[in-house]
Amino acid sequence: MSTRCGLFLLAIFGMLLAACDGDRPAPAAAAAAAAAPREDIFARVMADKRVRIGVKADTPPFGVASGDTYVGFDIDIAMAVAKQLGIEQVEFVPVTSADRIKRLLHGDVDMVVASMTITRYREKKVDFTLPYFQDGEGLLVKKESPIASYLDLAGKTVGCVKGSTSSYYMKQVAPDCATKVYANFDELMAGFDKDEVDAITTDTLILIGLMKNAREPDAYRLAGDRFTTEPYGIAVPENQSRWRDALDSAIQELWENGRWQVICDSWFGPGAKYETSVNFSITPYPH
Ligand code: GLU
Repeated sequence: MSTRCGLFLLAIFGMLLAACDGDRPAPAAAAAAAAAPREDIFARVMADKRVRIGVKADTPPFGVASGDTYVGFDIDIAMAVAKQLGIEQVEFVPVTSADRIKRLLHGDVDMVVASMTITRYREKKVDFTLPYFQDGEGLLVKKESPIASYLDLAGKTVGCVKGSTSSYYMKQVAPDCATKVYANFDELMAGFDKDEVDAITTDTLILIGLMKNAREPDAYRLAGDRFTTEPYGIAVPENQSRWRDALDSAIQELWENGRWQVICDSWFGPGAKYETSVNFSITPYPH
């Protein structure tokens, strides 16, 4: 056999092997990938003074698209955290409840500030900072609805958003109700207005936000009190300890220097559009 013919057969053999192995990388490639140093997000962000932040675009009062930018409590917290760290350039990237973890793991964003509850299930995929806010799940119904709380949901259909904690908790507190899952909050509200569901559920301040921004805010009412605890954290990829420490430290600084309270008051304080009593505090770690 000539050398050329031998090389050709070797190449064919190699291709066949690769085809049998599907998407699985060859052992040598896998070992090289495992040994490759993971990108240090903290080092890049601090060197570039630029950060990409995943935020909500349809989730009042936390993150809403407004012209070519975004507004909301989460947006202000994200900006304040970046400023606290001396980061000059902030790029907001819209995410949904359904894709925020994927976008983070894919490297599209460096952090997610998106009304995101810290859960032990999510902790298996991403890391969280300490909580920077807390809400609880509630129920929104039409004004004339007979539903007084989640205890009246047997045989009813409740709308919720894909990728959020709400459908999971709804099944725990009201196992006899059906859930209809929507792609995002805009579609959830549109479905509710078309009477596709008897009620909708998510964190109470988001329900208030959706109601206040609806064409007829008086057509809805909250039914009952909060029935879960939803501590919000900033999500970062796993094993980025310097990055998470920096964000944790910035959150504590914002609490200590009063900036957190100013932001909170501007969204939820007396006279604010989403005025409500906020029962949340941060206990900063000692220096
Ligand atoms: N805080 C809840 C969650 O993280 C509901 C709001 C949302 O999906 O953004 O699932």
